[in-house]
Amino acid sequence: MNVDGSADTANHGLAGVRAAIAAACRDAGRDPTAVTLVAISKTFAVAQIEPVIAAGQRVFGENRVQEAKAKWPPLLSAHAGIALHLVGPLQSNKAREAVNLFAAIHSLDRQSLCAALAKEVARLGRCPQLFVEVNTGAEPQKAGVLPQAADAFLRACRDVYDLPVAGLMCIPPLAEPPAQHFALAAKIAARNGLKFLSMGMSADFALAIRFGATHVRVGTAIFGQRPKAAP
Ligand SMILES: *Cc1c(COP(=O)(O)O)cnc(C)c1O
Repeated sequence: MNVDGSADTANHGLAGVRAAIAAACRDAGRDPTAVTLVAISKTFAVAQIEPVIAAGQRVFGENRVQEAKAKWPPLLSAHAGIALHLVGPLQSNKAREAVNLFAAIHSLDRQSLCAALAKEVARLGRCPQLFVEVNTGAEPQKAGVLPQAADAFLRACRDVYDLPVAGLMCIPPLAEPPAQHFALAAKIAARNGLKFLSMGMSADFALAIRFGATHVRVGTAIFGQRPKAAP
């Protein structure tokens, strides 16, 4: 597959992540089927994704619409039952492509995007599973609605745009312990009656599961180090 053996690394990584998810669920007294592993394949080529599909993984995440469009169509026609999730920022002018390609969008964070998505959802007659991204650390450079604005934003999604929101997504600040951010996202989800929580990456998915994560977004621990830094 790959001269450097990264296909083997991928399978090894996937098995390790699956085992760690099972262990975290056991420790937390949670049903492991309630946690979806989203394998983040951004920057990785088709040849590196194939062995992970062959090992049974069916949910994948990408952070760019263009990259997903370039990479995934042949994989989607070759393998049944694959669900693609968009975990990166979405420009409103790519809403149509996103609704066509993705089973879930984790980065709903502004009303202009709600309007663009609502239009495409009405046109195409289907709606991806939607997560509202919450900027739990109130970081100025980061996407997401501020925690104090989340309740009103969720109301607007429902009442103004008629968009069904399934859950929340958060990316804790790099320099802070993630626990308080996971707890905050869980609290906002609970008080808004949302069932799903997209949180936890390679370094902290087990902790996120303890705080109620239903979707963990894991890249490096499955595929290895990314070739170059990706946002
Ligand atoms: C890249 C990325 C991940 C995966 O990060 P790893 O540390 O490689 O597991 C998860 N979520 C988002 C939004 C990402 O962009």
